Amino acid sequence: MDERVNAHRLDVVWDARNRYQKNIFFTVSLLRVVCQPEKRIAMLSVNEPLLIFTDLDGTLLDSHTYDWQPAAPWLYRLRERNIPLILCSSKTAAEMLHLQQTLGLQGLPLIAENGAVVQLDAHWQTQPHYPRRINGISHSEIHIVLNSLREKMHFKFTTFDDVDEQTIVDWTGLNRTQAALTRLHEASVSLIWRDSDERMTLFADQLEQMGLQFVHGARFWHVLDASVGKDQAANELIAIYQQLWQKRPATLGLGDGPNDAPLLDVMDYAVVVKGLNREGVHLQHIEPSRVYRTQHEGPEGWREGLDYFLSSDKG
Ligand SMILES: [Mg+2]
Repeated sequence: MDERVNAHRLDVVWDARNRYQKNIFFTVSLLRVVCQPEKRIAMLSVNEPLLIFTDLDGTLLDSHTYDWQPAAPWLYRLRERNIPLILCSSKTAAEMLHLQQTLGLQGLPLIAENGAVVQLDAHWQTQPHYPRRINGISHSEIHIVLNSLREKMHFKFTTFDDVDEQTIVDWTGLNRTQAALTRLHEASVSLIWRDSDERMTLFADQLEQMGLQFVHGARFWHVLDASVGKDQAANELIAIYQQLWQKRPATLGLGDGPNDAPLLDVMDYAVVVKGLNREGVHLQHIEPSRVYRTQHEGPEGWREGLDYFLSSDKG
């Protein structure tokens, strides 16, 4: 009797051991499959809290024609999923609010004048500085500094304030109504530089001594407070979303110019849209899992970038 009981116990132990070994084998096999490095992993999901920040000229908009149609399917998809697409540019807030309407993004926050102006979401009435936060030195104060430098040191440049609307139409190819909006600067001055490269260095040094910076945009140069930038403005908005959503959203940035680098550097993921800028876009963190450089330019490159990071969530 005791022998039979012992034999039975032994069978039970063997069965348990076999089952355990099979489970271990299955678990290890599963882990091998799950942990298999894939060629490309969909790192972002439209089903998770996500913010997308994008430059305009040369990125979402064609540099020459301002066309954005190749990006239209993604604009629709993001709107459907309530994913904020935050325009981020050297343009004025007035010009960008007009563009938001055209793109179906009205009511969302935006970053204007290279970060010197932050337009808050239309629903954030309780936020300080609603509806618009002006960072740093005002447009009129910068204008005074520039006029003084021009008088004293004879730098050659033409600001948007120096010319009439028709001249801006000629410079930009915009219609007269849009051209009028490009002049409504609140905390920066846009200009065309007409002096030598050496004089530009001297000019930038003079600005720096007065707490200002000289930024190269897609078409023009911009003078603004040295303490502001697209990156600070983006962080400001990310903090508000984090507070509202009780979770830090993932962030994806898209840009094509050197002035987009600070923005792309503070994003979780970055798309560098192929551009014509001779200086290129130099980022601090260039891991391929974080940064994607597109084959196409303008809005086609923009679409390519979103396809790359969000392709598995297209449906
Ligand atoms: Mg650009």
